[in-house]
Order: sequence, then structure tokens, then C-alpha cells
Amino acid sequence: MLQKTSPYMRQANLIGGEWVQADSGATIDVVNPATRLKIGTVPKAGRAETRRAIEAADAAFVTWKKTSVLERHKLLRKLHDAIMDNQQTLAELLTMEQGKSLTEAKGEVAISAAYILWFAEEGRRTYGDVVPSPWADRRVLVTKEPTGVVAAITPWNFPSSMLARKIGPALAAGCTAVVKPASQTPYSGLAWGALAEEAGFPKGVINIVTGSAGEIGDEICANPLVKKITFTGSTEVGKILLQKAASTVKKVSMELGGNAPFLVFDDADVKRAVEGAIVAKYRNSGQTCVCTNRFFVQAGIYDEFVEKFAEATAKLKVGPGLEEGTQQGPLIDMRAVEKVEELVGDATARGGKVVTGGRRHALGGSFYEPTVIAEATPSMRFMREEIFGPVAPVFRFETEEEAIRLANDTEYGLACYFYTGDLGRAFRVMEGLKYGMVGVNEGLITTVEAPFGGVKESGLGREGGHQGIDDYLDTKYVCIGGLGL
Ligand code: NAP
Repeated sequence: MLQKTSPYMRQANLIGGEWVQADSGATIDVVNPATRLKIGTVPKAGRAETRRAIEAADAAFVTWKKTSVLERHKLLRKLHDAIMDNQQTLAELLTMEQGKSLTEAKGEVAISAAYILWFAEEGRRTYGDVVPSPWADRRVLVTKEPTGVVAAITPWNFPSSMLARKIGPALAAGCTAVVKPASQTPYSGLAWGALAEEAGFPKGVINIVTGSAGEIGDEICANPLVKKITFTGSTEVGKILLQKAASTVKKVSMELGGNAPFLVFDDADVKRAVEGAIVAKYRNSGQTCVCTNRFFVQAGIYDEFVEKFAEATAKLKVGPGLEEGTQQGPLIDMRAVEKVEELVGDATARGGKVVTGGRRHALGGSFYEPTVIAEATPSMRFMREEIFGPVAPVFRFETEEEAIRLANDTEYGLACYFYTGDLGRAFRVMEGLKYGMVGVNEGLITTVEAPFGGVKESGLGREGGHQGIDDYLDTKYVCIGGLGL
């Protein structure tokens, strides 16, 4: 039985505290990628509904920004508790619409709650400054104020946690929000509305619209009431939003695509590297922005690494996410499968060797076999393109300089990983890699306490860490004169 119902599955939008349908009554079907069966529908909203959501958020901002940090802290803690009290239910909903294994979905729900708790705490530490004044009779203060209405747009691969690290800092800072979840996985986004109601957030503080991405995006970008856009998704769409947001000079943060390299040097612990490679490649069936896209392995251990990595890959259990023991769910849709097939076809035509996998899975639908391709070369498409699937190309290199050059040869700069037993090399390589996040002898590095984000075309701004709340605050300088001192 793979189809379940959930008390958190809302088939409506939340605008100003009311659960509503699209003005036109139009809806979008939501499908379970494991079964291809329809789960339900969500409203297909457009510009008018988005405008009302923005106006509701703007109206709520008037009072929300005046709540004390402690009040907001308490509400966010309640939100954290509501999430964790319903971890299983929320994870089932997430698996049903997204496909990932229930274990991974529970992990995602837990990290969502952890982000909320982290920002509940960080909200209390948004310190300003009292600056030593250059004038004897004046005093200089620097304060932090909530930016205003924040619009958040998120992708389908982490439909819960990508919102957590936007909603958490926004609400903690005193901002209000208009949220647009991805059309393929809207329920985990809409669940935030139900959870926020349960925790006691005032009406209008969180508004959620689903529907036409172009129309919703256009309204968000053009509406002067929106003061900040926070987006997670493809670099392509990020660039469109950056251009459109320029018309009203909004603050922007962008978490965009990646092309993560994973370097294994001759002096690495191969067993540890293989364990890290499995996590860094196959989490969410390879559909994460920090998933390894390219493995670079030094010639001396190349054959050993490929053999052990392929052996571990072949053991991964593929199946519907809700089924006990599943480690790899389906890909999000058939387009994703076709893209993976194209990339594998391109690689084999250019001399790549499929060591394991390389085909659609016998389960059919959008299931694809976890795949390792040896003898990868820079002429292959996955040198430049995000694979976003369970395919691991393994390139061979000779020297440290060559490895760093190949790893940096991309317009992306999100996450990277490398394995070495040499401390000097660890520092040289870490400093040589042009990425926002580096895992040294670690393949899984995301945590709420650290700043997540990229350089180059992987984005702008950071989420998580103490840095993650900065983008939701405006700095105000106040000069107080006439003090008669
Ligand atoms: P996407 O196509 O860019 O979509 C992301 C979101 O943007 C969805 O909600 C989508 O809505 C919306 N959207 C699409 N076109 C839009 C437009 N013209 N105006 C406004 N919104 C628009 O990305 P995706 O395929 O869902 O997600 C995969 C990508 O996200 C990958 O590139 C991955 O690397 C990246 N990602 C980055 C991070 C990070 O933190 N750096 C994290 C996760 C994922 P619809 O669903 O309605 O089309």
C-alpha cells in the first residue's frame, strides 16, 4: 500500500489566514513518482492570488515586526515541536510526493525542525553596534531591522528543508513571508501553513501559493511590497529572477545549481572514500545540488576505488520510498530518466565503461539503476552538466595540480569533497578549490550550524549558520546629535 492520506495534506493555498482555491478554480495534479498515481490536486494560482498573498503579508508585517524577539522565539520553538511531533506523518507525505526513501524523508523533516530551532535562537542574537563616535557631542548607533515581506521559491528535491532555512530566519528576524513551493511537490510546502497555524502564528505571517511559476514569479519580482526574494533552484531560473528583481531593486539570495567534484588521492583511506562517495552521490537518488557530479581519482588507486565503489553501488536497494529497506527511490519524473539516459549514452559513445547499472531499473517507471561509469573524460557532457540522477562518472588524474584544475573547470561552485591522508595536501587542496563548501574526508557536510551556499554561478548569500539570518535584516545607522555633552 503506497498511497496514504495525511492530516497535513492541504489541497488549498493559504492567503491571509484563509485556505482558498485559485480564482479560476484551476488545479494542478500531483503525482506519486513511485506509482505514477495521482495523489491529489493543488490550486493553479496566478498573479492576482499572489498579489493578495503579498498584501496579506505586508499587512501582517505591521504588527509582526513589533513582536519581541522572545515572542517570536517561543512561536518558532512551538513550530519546531509541531514538526517533530509529526515527523513520521510529514515524512510519509514527503516520500509520497517526492519519491525519496522514508529514512531520508524523516531525516529531511528532522533537519527542517532543526533549522527552525536554530533560527529561533539566532533571532535573539541579531546584535547591532554602539560605535565609538568621532564627535564629542554625538553618538553613533547601528541597529538591525526586519527587511519586510520576503518571497521564497523552492525546488522539488528538498520540499521541506529548503523552505525551513528560508521561513526560519525570515520569521525570526520579524519578516513575513509569501512562499511558492515546486509544483511537483507542493504538499510538504503547504504543510508549513498547517504547522504554523498549529503553532499559533498570526494570520498573514506565512502565505503559501501554488501554481503558474511564471505568473507567480512575475508578481513577486514586480510588486514593490516584496523586499526580498530568496530562491533555491536551477541557475537558469535564478538568472531570470535576478533580472526581473532588478526592476524594483530587491534584496536577493540564490541557492542555485552545482557540479560537485569528489577527489580521491593515492594517499586516501579508500574504504572511507567509498563510504563517503556512496552518500555524496546517491542521496535522494543523486538529485541534490551537493551530490557529486564528477569523481576524480588518482591513477595509483583508480582501479581499486572503481571496483569497491561499484561493488557498494550495486548493493543499494532500489524501490518505492515507503517500502521497508529502500535506499534509492525513483527519479522525480520521466524527463529526469531521459536526461540520465542521454548522459550515459554520450559517455559510452566517448569511451566510458559502465561498471555497474547503466539502464532503467526493472521496476519500470522512473526508477533507474545506480550506475558507475569508469574511464570518464572531460569531453563527456557530465563534465559540465548537472546529472541530477544516480550516475557516477569516474575520471582518472595524475597530479594534484591537474585534479584541482579539473575540479575548478566549471561555472559552478557549490560543494566539493576530497579524500587524502596528508595534512599539507589537505590545506593546499582546500585552499585551491573554488567552492562555497568543502568536505575533507567527509561526504555529507550539511548542518544547520554552518553556512550553506555557493560561489560563481551557484549563487549568492548563505543559508544556515549565524550568517543565514543576515539577509533578512536591514542595517540602520543612527547618529544622535544635540546631546549637549
Ligand atoms: P527549477 O526548475 O529552477 O525550479 C525551482 C522553483 O522555481 C520551482 O518552484 C519552480 O516552479 C520555480 N520556477 C520555475 N520557473 C520559474 C519562473 N520563471 N519564475 C519563478 N519561479 C519559477 O529547479 P528544480 O528543477 O525544481 O530544482 C533543481 C535545481 O535546484 C537544481 O539545479 C539544483 O542544483 C538546484 N538546487 C539548489 C540548491 C542549493 O541550495 N544551491 C538546493 C536544492 C536544489 P514549478 O515547480 O512550478 O516549475
